[in-house]
Amino acid sequence: VVNTLDRSAIAVDAAWDVEGLYKLAAELEVTIRGCVYTHYHFDHCGGDVHPMFTGGQKVFLSGAKEVEDAGGTIWAGQGDAEQIQKQCSLKEVVAMRDGDVIPCGDLVLHILRTPGHTPGSICVFAAPRGLSPRSTIGSTGLKEARTKAEAGLLITGDTLFVGSCGRTDLPGSDPREMMSSLARLSTMDPAVVVCPGHNYATEPFTTIGAERAQNDMVIMGLSHFPSPPPVPPCAMCGEGGQICGPKKFRKGRKARIVNLASEAGQALNGQDCVVESYMDGKDRYAVRLFGQSGIKVLKPDNLEKPKMDGPSSEAAS
Ligand SMILES: [Zn+2]
Ligand SMILES: [Zn+2]
Repeated sequence: VVNTLDRSAIAVDAAWDVEGLYKLAAELEVTIRGCVYTHYHFDHCGGDVHPMFTGGQKVFLSGAKEVEDAGGTIWAGQGDAEQIQKQCSLKEVVAMRDGDVIPCGDLVLHILRTPGHTPGSICVFAAPRGLSPRSTIGSTGLKEARTKAEAGLLITGDTLFVGSCGRTDLPGSDPREMMSSLARLSTMDPAVVVCPGHNYATEPFTTIGAERAQNDMVIMGLSHFPSPPPVPPCAMCGEGGQICGPKKFRKGRKARIVNLASEAGQALNGQDCVVESYMDGKDRYAVRLFGQSGIKVLKPDNLEKPKMDGPSSEAAS
């Protein structure tokens, strides 16, 4: 996940080809600060692979160790951190609890504890503000799938898949906890885009709304846990402070600059920005332009809610 303001990035489940990931980052001129691991299975974090999967051979798969060796921080769910540290021979793993956040410039990743597939499985939620425009990062030779993610991006590891969920018949897994975790995820905004750790469908991503409507495992989860615990509040919006100012913008969401009359202002008309706050005493909104770090202070008349079809609403994953 890339913060385009300062071109820093946090990887999720970097394994198999960590070298390739760093090459890609170099190509895009993006600095990888570290990697979050959704759970301890080797196909997500690398390290010592159980001989059962290798025909008895000893195999050490590229993953968290290579990220740490490159100077990156390793984050993982509290219940899986120790196992990942051992399996990947790491010096340190930052153990994350439910509701913890990883700040990355303008980008904040929220950690949601979603046990079931493993005891410490987590999902990573990139808050809407973190979804900076893909177009400013540059291009690569890789094939890309693009989708809008106005309500945020949820990376679900082996918890929620398109139309199904991760296995719960493995050592350390717990079907009941999986049901509870799926029910909990289903309470998120229906427009949240879900990126699963494996894909068994035609499209490699889905939405919370689609899974709530069609995913039998989610539906079963909700029947067992009809009122699951809410997901932690967004750290960017804060509790209760989601709406601001006379135009009721959501903090951290996009707005469009309009109707500026001055010569300098006219160049800004039609541009998208992020709403930072409403300055009560001044009757002005503080906003930040995409791709820039300075704050602009504008009258409510000079901001409107953008239509949902702008190119800057694309999220990169
Ligand atoms: Zn797994
Ligand atoms: Zn997996």
